Amino acid sequence: MTRTIYVDGKYLPYSQAGVHVEDRGFQFGDAVYEVCEIRSGAIIDERRHLERLERSLNELDMPMRMSHASFGRVIRETIRRNRVRNGFVYIQVSRGAAPRDFLFSGPNVGQTVVVLARALSRATNEAIALKGISVITTPEQRWARVDIKTVMLLASSIAKEKAKAVGAKEAWFVGDDGMVTEGASSNAWIVTMDGELITRPADGHILKGITRTVAMEVAENRGLKLVERAFTVDEAKKAREAFVTSASAGVLPVIQIDGTVIGNGAPGSTATELRQLFHTFAEATL
Ligand code: PMP
Repeated sequence: MTRTIYVDGKYLPYSQAGVHVEDRGFQFGDAVYEVCEIRSGAIIDERRHLERLERSLNELDMPMRMSHASFGRVIRETIRRNRVRNGFVYIQVSRGAAPRDFLFSGPNVGQTVVVLARALSRATNEAIALKGISVITTPEQRWARVDIKTVMLLASSIAKEKAKAVGAKEAWFVGDDGMVTEGASSNAWIVTMDGELITRPADGHILKGITRTVAMEVAENRGLKLVERAFTVDEAKKAREAFVTSASAGVLPVIQIDGTVIGNGAPGSTATELRQLFHTFAEATL
């Protein structure tokens, strides 16, 4: 349950927290966001998430008006007020409210900053990871700047609904070239029969996930053979293992793709090891 939400300098009760109807985030999807895991009261990889937030803003010609330190203070206060020990914090910055106009180069309207924190059950997440999830594949229908973490998530939302309809938890987008780009809200990985760990390079067709970056460090530290390259759906179906990474779910094993069982149908040893070691490599700040 979220009790209090930070909106533009104020901590407001959930029911009273709102933004202007002409907020550009609402009318144009002109907003960026971040999600950080909260674990045992600590913020996971805060520095990297704030750096990526700044990059997203820069790519859209928006200044980062709050310093990283100020964001840190707001994040902590929001977590404290909502008494979240395990869960996530969501940060959103839009270009602000202005009379509807495609152009954003006019008078600077000021930004809308929202921070909310919500508790999630660690036990539930662990139970899901122990079982593994199913994914479906679906044509890539997002815009071409998926490297920017914007709130334009309609294609991802539709893809997730499509997955849910067949009992799957995630959808993998597949480009016209037959290559998997990434999940609707995660990065996609496979482990080949030769034991190679494969994930797509941050080539502009994926979001450069923070969990992906940390998982790559874990893999290198464990001496695993890591290859950054795109892979096809067929290759993934024949893989020894598959998994996804995201801040909210960590390293999450995939046991079925479009109904095809991966490996022996149980979470693979590589995914399981990366999941277990992830937090020893991630940065946790109180
Ligand atoms: N790709 C997409 C499209 C996402 O929405 C997410 C989750 N925010 C990720 C990848 C994973 O990124 P991260 O590990 O930073 O959460």
